[in-house]
Amino acid sequence: MGAYADLHRRSITDRESFWIEEARRIHWQRRFDQVLDYSRPPFARWFVGGLTNLCYNALDRHLAARGDQPALVYISTETDSEVTYTYRELHTVVNVMAALIAAQGVSRGDRVLLYMPMIPEAVIAMLACARLGAVHSVVFGGFAAASCATRIDDAKPKLLITADAGLRAGRAIHYKPLVDEALRLAQYPPQRVLVVNRGIDAGFKPVAGRDLDYATLAREHAGAQVPVTWLESSEPSYILYTSGTTGKPKGVQRDTGGYAVALASSMERIYGGKPGETMFTTSDVGWVVGHSYIVYGPLIHGMTTILYEGLPIRPDAGIWWKIVADKKVSVMFSSPTAARVLKKQDPAYLKKYDLSSLRHLFLAGEPLDEPTHRWLHDALGKPVIDHYWQTETGWPILSLAPGVEPAQVKYGSPGFPVYGYDLKLLRESDASEAAPNEKGVVIIAPPLPPGCMTTVWGDDARFVDTYFRTFPGRLLYSTFDWGVRDADGYTFILGRTDDVINVAGHRIGTREIEEAVQSHANIAEVAVVGVADSLKGQMPLAFAVVKDVSKIETEAGRATQEQEIMAAVDRQLGGIARPSRVLFVTLLPKTRSGKLLRRSLQALAEGRDPGDLTTIEDPAALEQIRHALST
Ligand code: ATP
Ligand code: MG
Repeated sequence: MGAYADLHRRSITDRESFWIEEARRIHWQRRFDQVLDYSRPPFARWFVGGLTNLCYNALDRHLAARGDQPALVYISTETDSEVTYTYRELHTVVNVMAALIAAQGVSRGDRVLLYMPMIPEAVIAMLACARLGAVHSVVFGGFAAASCATRIDDAKPKLLITADAGLRAGRAIHYKPLVDEALRLAQYPPQRVLVVNRGIDAGFKPVAGRDLDYATLAREHAGAQVPVTWLESSEPSYILYTSGTTGKPKGVQRDTGGYAVALASSMERIYGGKPGETMFTTSDVGWVVGHSYIVYGPLIHGMTTILYEGLPIRPDAGIWWKIVADKKVSVMFSSPTAARVLKKQDPAYLKKYDLSSLRHLFLAGEPLDEPTHRWLHDALGKPVIDHYWQTETGWPILSLAPGVEPAQVKYGSPGFPVYGYDLKLLRESDASEAAPNEKGVVIIAPPLPPGCMTTVWGDDARFVDTYFRTFPGRLLYSTFDWGVRDADGYTFILGRTDDVINVAGHRIGTREIEEAVQSHANIAEVAVVGVADSLKGQMPLAFAVVKDVSKIETEAGRATQEQEIMAAVDRQLGGIARPSRVLFVTLLPKTRSGKLLRRSLQALAEGRDPGDLTTIEDPAALEQIRHALST
């Protein structure tokens, strides 16, 4: 057995002793009493009773040995500036930020919402919250006011931190008016808004009594020293909302101790980074990748991290490689999208700079197609490692681990299950294990390893119902992705189990359309599927269960209801998402576990065999669907 396979096996069969060893990588103010409390499945509590703090592990712990080493290097091709903070300097400014946040009445467990561009103050504010034991929730700067407002109402923050503006390709995006609008829309707006005024928005107007100026307060709190608030390992460090690709965003809640251990471990074992070296992650602090591998991971590991504000092709497509050369980056982390952008540029840029410091380039976030993988690998002459993860997990699920064993890349595959993850590919029909080369649902047998989400913020039931109900009677975490494993054990991700409809090239989630249809007052339940269409590729078709059946008794009544529903979809999503028809039924075909038989519905709508229906709750539902389709 190879070194990695052996490590993975130990992490599953000898879970507790494996993680005791890994937990030595971080500072514990008080040692934990118990490695894992799994008395209430699927809720896992790691390192129970241990006291620690993310900010202490990221900064204070390194002061003695690395005080003068750069911790954060901010490079902006938008403002043409570069600022370096040593560990000592970053520690100083984080203390000041923590002092002025605390002065607003924020303490342990309180939420602070960040809506920030890629500037040092975003990182500083995250670390300051962590120092205070406050729960940060970073909302990607670029979300619309309405999206920001729903996240405010869910997190109910005491304080919001923002900036006057962000920059993209030299154009200012004014954040403040967006935040003002979000606060108008929100039901639970925070009382105070801390604004980092970059001097970009000349028309910037603070709201008296609400908005605070960061520079002014920082002067007032200069030299402040804020003691670390020690948190019990399971206390939340942050909330991060999922991208919402497949429905209403969920507040992913992360613990403190498990997360710190998972990151510290992955920095060495997966990313192969060494303390004192430099990591360059091209993501945004608003995404999970930014949380884990721009901010916390590299700092906990004593590395220098690069915060890059700008595009990959401005001033030219060599900018990232120039940064790698200038800063002697040893680990780089980017996305397939960025790789595809660079692929369209002159390949000479990849040869222009000395990339000898770089050992590996990691990519994640979406499927990496084989041609792009191969191209980048060849062009760089370095291993390009596709790895697979989710906001929910906080660190990779599938990857190669060059820190354990040299990486044998297979194009198109994110590699092997990461240690700690008991990953399986299961047949959708009966939850049995798929054979090699047979497609299955990617699931993780709980307990989820340290670092993964511990619950949905404020909604334990939603955590269980959303993630652990895919297979009736079996408590298994579903990733909602399809995967396949080849004979060598490499896993390939085939896409999401949540269907997406492709209407004339526009990808629209079936769930989004269902939500829009559902907003009509008379709709109790609805299922939307994509049906093949010779002109548009696919068209959405809705099957709706109404509350008041008297409204659909006549032909005219049905037509009116259908028109109203279509208008609701138009209003919320635009005409492109409008169902071709709305068919009324009293029952939808579901499994005994309550899962909609979406694929069967789609097959019937396209005149195909509905497939395996052994798990159907009530076969009468199918007759209704057939009848409705024939009208
Ligand atoms: P939501 O969960 O709200 O619908 P989302 O799933 O888009 O949003 P993320 O957590 O950012 O939010 O994305 C994780 C998903 O991205 C994975 O479930 C998978 O579908 C896809 N993904 C991530 N990395 C890879 C990869 N290396 N290869 C293939 N797909 C990937
Ligand atoms: Mg997801």
